[in-house]
Amino acid sequence: MDLLIIGAGPAGLSAAEAAARENLDYLVIEKGTIANTIRQYPVGRTMFSTPNEVEMHEGTLKPVREKPTREELLSHYIRFALKLDLKINTDEKVIDVSGNLDDGFVVKTDRAEYKAARVLFAMGAMEHPRHLNVPGEDLPKVHHLFVEPYAYVRKNALVVGGGNSAAEAALFLSEEGARTTMAIWREDWENRDPKAGAMKHWVRTPLEAEIKAGRLKVVLYKHVDEITEDQVRLTTETGESLTVANDVVFVLVGSDADLTLLKKLGVKTEPGKLTEVPVYDPETFETNVPGIYVAGHFTHARHIKAAIDVPRQIVPLIAKQIESCKS
Ligand SMILES: Cc1cc2nc3c(=O)[nH]c(=O)nc-3n(C[C@H](O)[C@H](O)[C@H](O)COP(=O)(O)OP(=O)(O)OC[C@H]3O[C@@H](n4cnc5c(N)ncnc54)[C@H](O)[C@@H]3O)c2cc1C
Repeated sequence: MDLLIIGAGPAGLSAAEAAARENLDYLVIEKGTIANTIRQYPVGRTMFSTPNEVEMHEGTLKPVREKPTREELLSHYIRFALKLDLKINTDEKVIDVSGNLDDGFVVKTDRAEYKAARVLFAMGAMEHPRHLNVPGEDLPKVHHLFVEPYAYVRKNALVVGGGNSAAEAALFLSEEGARTTMAIWREDWENRDPKAGAMKHWVRTPLEAEIKAGRLKVVLYKHVDEITEDQVRLTTETGESLTVANDVVFVLVGSDADLTLLKKLGVKTEPGKLTEVPVYDPETFETNVPGIYVAGHFTHARHIKAAIDVPRQIVPLIAKQIESCKS
């Protein structure tokens, strides 16, 4: 085939549409479901973005309110893939990529092996949720993803983290009757700079209302020391040891892409603003390994808008290159 695309998130879907338009022989391989990352957002969550920043085509996403919910966006992406009959294999994981531009690339999955002239990695940055690496973090009550609060009514919940995901989880849990504590570093709690990942004001305002009403506790902490079956022991920012009763813990401190396959191919990486990113040409998004391309959340272009726009820019270039190699 001409182009194998790894991942069916917004970037992979956009790439698939562009590849179809260019009459390329393409296939998307997705280890989960279509728009798997969006499916893993909290149930009912309202997006930060307005429709024009996340829709596949102008005017095609019409949310009930100003901003779409998880469900509206998920449905939008799924209907897009179905309507265009995009070639996507779901529940299939890419486990190895080898080869080169001259001989072609061999993409091995947990189900099959494919030959492709070019490979576009659109695999997002959710593969490795970050851990605290503390005793007890492997207990079944500890989660590194928050999907819904309804199982935790009247339970003692602890949320660890300082970004929007942690703040949203703490808010949803508290609003739905979990006895919630949020452990956050002072610098995150006091951060008001949206460009530096500060929690959005529409999350902070209701969160502060929960605190004021006495339903949500915030602990400014230094580190978590230990998680046990029914407690968590923390060290506060003033160095005191604090033990809280606990039924469930959500550790929401970010996640990292898995760059193993890219590195194995010889793709160079560099430190990005938040994490390690592959090195690529800013125009073509081709890496230093000819024929290997990147797009989406694990590049410098982290938001959905760029994840959709970049493949539209680069797939026609890939098509031209393939055409010139054939002629
Ligand atoms: C809780 C939360 C809220 C967010 N809110 C917003 C928001 O409001 N606005 C916004 O713009 N952005 C938001 N983001 C970020 C947004 O989700 C990403 O920017 C977007 O998903 C990027 O799209 P993508 O296609 O690059 O990656 P993804 O959507 O992550 O898609 C990558 C796909 O690749 C698949 N994959 C990975 N490895 C393999 C493999 N080896 N084999 C096969 N498939 C593989 C994954 O399963 C996944 O489906 C949010 C993120 C989170 C976690």
